Amino acid sequence: MENVTDFFGCLVFDDRVMKEKLSSEVYSSLRKTIDEGLALDKSVANAVADAMKDWAVSKGATHYTHWFQPLTGVTAEKHDSFIEPAADGNVILEFSGKELIKGEPDASSFPSGGIRATFEARGYTAWDPTSYAFIKDRTLCIPTAFCSYGGEALDKKTPLLRSMAALNKQAMRILKLFGRDDVKYVTTSVGAEQEYFLITREMYEKRPDLLFTGRTLFGAKPPKGQEMDDHYFGVIKPRVAKFMEDLDNELWKLGILAKTEHNEVAPAQHELAPIYTTTNVATDHNQLTMEMMQKIAARHGLVCLLHEKPFEGVNGSGKHNNWSVSTDTGVNLLSPGATPFENVQFLLFLCAVIKAVDDYQDLLRISVATAGNDHRLGANEAPPAVVSMFLGDELTAVLDAIENDTHYESAKKEKMKLGVDVLPRFNKDTTDRNRTSPFAFTGNKFEFRMLGSSNSIACANIMINSAVAESLKVYADELEGAADFNEALKNLLRKTIKEHRKILFNGNGYDDAWIEEATKVRGLSNFKTTPDCMPHLLDEKNVQMLTSHHVFSEVELKSRCEIMLENYCKQVIIEANTMISMVRTGYIPAIMGYTTELANAINVKKAADVSASVGYETTTLRKLSSLKDFIAGKCDELGISLETVRAQGDIVSKSNLIRDELLPHMNELRTMVDEAETMTAAYKWPYPSYADLLFSVR
Ligand code: ADP
Ligand code: MG
Repeated sequence: MENVTDFFGCLVFDDRVMKEKLSSEVYSSLRKTIDEGLALDKSVANAVADAMKDWAVSKGATHYTHWFQPLTGVTAEKHDSFIEPAADGNVILEFSGKELIKGEPDASSFPSGGIRATFEARGYTAWDPTSYAFIKDRTLCIPTAFCSYGGEALDKKTPLLRSMAALNKQAMRILKLFGRDDVKYVTTSVGAEQEYFLITREMYEKRPDLLFTGRTLFGAKPPKGQEMDDHYFGVIKPRVAKFMEDLDNELWKLGILAKTEHNEVAPAQHELAPIYTTTNVATDHNQLTMEMMQKIAARHGLVCLLHEKPFEGVNGSGKHNNWSVSTDTGVNLLSPGATPFENVQFLLFLCAVIKAVDDYQDLLRISVATAGNDHRLGANEAPPAVVSMFLGDELTAVLDAIENDTHYESAKKEKMKLGVDVLPRFNKDTTDRNRTSPFAFTGNKFEFRMLGSSNSIACANIMINSAVAESLKVYADELEGAADFNEALKNLLRKTIKEHRKILFNGNGYDDAWIEEATKVRGLSNFKTTPDCMPHLLDEKNVQMLTSHHVFSEVELKSRCEIMLENYCKQVIIEANTMISMVRTGYIPAIMGYTTELANAINVKKAADVSASVGYETTTLRKLSSLKDFIAGKCDELGISLETVRAQGDIVSKSNLIRDELLPHMNELRTMVDEAETMTAAYKWPYPSYADLLFSVR
């Protein structure tokens, strides 16, 4: 077995390769572009392109692509080969700086939410040199941003980079005030824990709902589910272990720091966590991880399900976005410091996050809103749709003392009066881990837990970065003009704690009583569904904040709102269509087949004994037969509802109609079919059962 250190990152044009393959002038010029965002010189671009091509060709690559993340949520690529005709009839391999820096894919088939009429089909992709190029399937992939010719972002990466720049700008202002002149820039880091299900390809292919929608639209509960909790951290089955090993190896080759793999709570559910890295790189890596999971699963005769709720009654899959802010000098600004002075700086950044999460609860909820994730949030397995923050007991006590200007008693029973100059040294709270909080402080980072497993982490981080940049801006504006810095700082912290205390909650987020308190007493927002929250993207305060930090233009926000709602509608409409088709061509015929058998059995019984009384066959036949009629009726109703939805032109009304009418019909239809499943002979049932699916991998 090869040593990991021998092949880690072997498919990445990373710093090591750059150093080796580029002249020192070209290298240092490129490094400046990467670290400080300086524009790339044309001659440098040509030299980099040339070296990149030679390196890629030496690794067997024949094509290159600008790899980008359109608003569909998946990644996109258009492959061009390196070959150019040569005069002698042969070919030469070419790749210029121009081709490296800018590409022009036909943008007309990617969602743009009205930004770009189809006749202006051309958008362009621009290299993001802060994310390394890599080789996948013999193709050199160049991570890029994707924009329209007017410069509007048509992807998720552009606003993400803008949000990182916004946070950097405001955090630098604060650090200046603290005299941190050695710091050149501030960046955010993310570690994204990814959950997924593995089932066998054989079972998957027999379920049209999984094929078309990624989730099961029907299926009665299996006799055994997750109630034994025996899967979590349980022994990994050999077939799954092989998959994980293969996956780790492929990810390592791509320079992705896959670190832990374990079983999750639900049967067939697993998790992968990488070591954290710069946010935009972490975003690329998470997209690649999801892609590789599916590819490698296929190699093992498996299918990787990334849907948020593939199985009803079984935990869904999420993604935890572990987020922190640090300086180029290696200081984590969310880490409580060793000295009181460092602690004040920490408290300021902590308060900035508290204010951000409270002020922009709606944007955080919006950033994770999809039709799939609506099934998860608030379903007693994932955080509720209400955003709140967990800080742990010790930090909460520190904040209480600051707010009330009282004594703080540390865990070691030291009592002290808190002032900016005499803040105590406190330990990070690692003991009290609250798994039910949507936004939890975990010692030196925040863990945002509302993301769905298939979400791009870009969206959540765009909103977190922007909202925190806004808090820091407000703070910097105030502190820069303050006559007495310490006094102003103390007041600022106190004011933040007072105003935003309502977002802090250390209790059980899964408790119904909390939702009641959060919404009725504290006035926190509770957007249960995508149509509930998405239109708030365009609320005045949100538009104002996001445009003022140049993260989005107003046009971009409008288009995003429309696209997200469109995606929602499309997804549910496909689900409804699939249900109708499965009921009419699969379930109803199966039930009829079984009722016919029951009728025959009744006739046989009667032939043997004319006086035979009503027995099992008859009662089952009656029940199933009438259930079948109800199912057929419900299916027709669903069809009619679908027509009404389709006819609705306005996207907001359309998504509301889906939430209020289509989805309830779908749920009712499902309940009836699932009941029929429990009464029908298994050999007659047309699709694999939950037990077949969940326990298929052995
Ligand atoms: P868990 O949440 O399962 O207890 P950990 O706390 O060890 O696991 O880490 C979860 C994720 O958080 C990992 O991806 C890890 O790399 C990431 N992480 C750890 N420290 C930081 C940090 N300072 N900033 C961002 N992510 C971090
Ligand atoms: Mg976690």
